[in-house]
Amino acid sequence: MGRLSRDKRDVFYRRAKEKGYRARSAFKLLQLDSEFNLFEGVKRAVDLCAAPGSWSQVLADRLDSDDANPNIVAVDLQPMAPIDGVLCIQGDITSYDTARSILSPFQTNRAELVICDGAPDVTGLHDLDEYLQAQLLIMAVKITTHVLVDGGTFVAKIFRGRHASQLYAQLRLLFDRVSIAKPTSSRNSSLESFVVCQQFKGAPYFNLSLDQDTVLEGSDIPPAVPPFLACGDLSGWDESEQVMMDADKSYPIEQDYVAPIAPPILPPHQAQNVQKANGKE
Ligand code: SAM
Repeated sequence: MGRLSRDKRDVFYRRAKEKGYRARSAFKLLQLDSEFNLFEGVKRAVDLCAAPGSWSQVLADRLDSDDANPNIVAVDLQPMAPIDGVLCIQGDITSYDTARSILSPFQTNRAELVICDGAPDVTGLHDLDEYLQAQLLIMAVKITTHVLVDGGTFVAKIFRGRHASQLYAQLRLLFDRVSIAKPTSSRNSSLESFVVCQQFKGAPYFNLSLDQDTVLEGSDIPPAVPPFLACGDLSGWDESEQVMMDADKSYPIEQDYVAPIAPPILPPHQAQNVQKANGKE
């Protein structure tokens, strides 16, 4: 049975149709809100990877919006049908230009909430899919550091995998509270879940570079991965011994032979001689 027919039998698909939501995903955000009170005190919000727009519909319903000055910005690669009170931007959030255009409405007033339901088209190549999803998340975090107020909330879709605990550790550097949640409207068969990051620590982290090549750099963020230290004299020359101490170099043949202090009990060449003497070759 194809995916489409399963979707249509899904209770959340039907309820979305009944309530006029563009996608069943609306219920994921509503369920996250009932657990985490996401919308309390929120006047401005950013919806990253927003098409077809059910999360933006929920935001437009819940936040006080003024059509002349939309306080919700929604971004997606795909075009989105307009929603009252929502400024829709079409673009790739991993591109610098799109990131810049997301920031401009928040130059003076930052948002209290950033949500990201981004998912790249699945290629079926597991490592590539995981990499593309990570790029979306990294960019969403970078954009967030530029638009979110101190104490604000960031919610993003993740696919639980081998890097989940590292991700958690990195997000904890930016937010006081990080939870991972799986709404019941998200299928059990899917690895999808959501990170809910509350109490943005703000100031020190405001300027994460929006450059493609930088990963959570360009600020005072302490590294979550322990630093790798090379120890010893890196020139490879041991002054006291007057020799090269490089583990990848062979012992120089012209060097005077020094007998080992603790020689092997029966080195292989002697073992062979013993076997020969016993006629067991
Ligand atoms: N939250 C949306 C809703 O409720 O209607 C559904 C989002 S859908 C699961 C994932 C979206 O991520 C797709 O519309 C896709 O176009 C978008 N997307 C994937 N990569 C993107 C990127 N690099 N930049 C912007 N949007 C992206």
